[in-house]
Amino acid sequence: MTRVLRTRAELRAALGTARRPVGLVPTMGWLHDGHRSLIRRARAENPTAVVSIFVNPRQFNRADDFTKYPRNEDRDVAVCADEGVDLVWAPSVDEVYVPGFDTTVSVGAIAGPLEGAARPGHFDGVATVVAILFGLVGAEHAYFGQKDAQQVMVIRRMARDLALPTDVIACPTVREPDGLALSSRNVHLAPRERAAAPVLHRALLQAAAQWRTGERSGDALRATMSAVLSGEPLATPEYVSLADVLTLAELDQIEGSALLSLAVRIGATRLIDNELLDAGSA
Ligand code: AMP
Repeated sequence: MTRVLRTRAELRAALGTARRPVGLVPTMGWLHDGHRSLIRRARAENPTAVVSIFVNPRQFNRADDFTKYPRNEDRDVAVCADEGVDLVWAPSVDEVYVPGFDTTVSVGAIAGPLEGAARPGHFDGVATVVAILFGLVGAEHAYFGQKDAQQVMVIRRMARDLALPTDVIACPTVREPDGLALSSRNVHLAPRERAAAPVLHRALLQAAAQWRTGERSGDALRATMSAVLSGEPLATPEYVSLADVLTLAELDQIEGSALLSLAVRIGATRLIDNELLDAGSA
């Protein structure tokens, strides 16, 4: 049976008797098959599966993005029940940020480029809320999507640095048949925009194909992604990146593995995606 909990106290009480290990899946709700894949992994690997549903105001650098973010808790709880989740924590903002709350967890260099540069304050918000979740749940395992590749790196750094006892596990990106990465934000796409949105994945695939045929120049691969994007009139690129997998610094020349990533506006909707160039598979 899936129990929906609202307060920190309820969550702690429920976890007091929970079978270990505990697997946690943090989400902002509007659950889709990407979330389901994380939940299934947590369900399969832990006798207790916990999903949090919280649209975290601190990680939005634009107020309109926060208010527009899609929400449907009843449906989300039904998805969790369908996946056999034990505990859903769906707190209010005041329950997460208790009265007098005055702490920010700020991760350093890895949070600087890409999403960190494009969305000031975003990763402080993410790291702070995930630190609270890790502290409250004390899960052995927490599951995150590779779709938000930099987020996984930021959270890993944070968990290691703060000695939090939760293992951060990255799960593959789930896509629509046409390649578009599932995202709660896809609901905002008008039909023409939805038809244009797979251009992100096409740009990544084209650069990855070029890499497989031996291209190792960062500029050449970034140019390939930009060229594919410029063929789609509804796409406005925010950044295209070919970066080091450990530091996320832009690369002139690829020596081992590398991360291709991009952020693109399709109309008013901002989408991100990425593809790992894995030297082990080249
Ligand atoms: P969100 O609700 O967007 O904050 O996402 C919650 C978790 O689901 C994060 O760890 C995301 O990286 C992950 N996620 C979102 N979309 C996908 C996807 N298409 N495939 C896999 N994981 C995803």
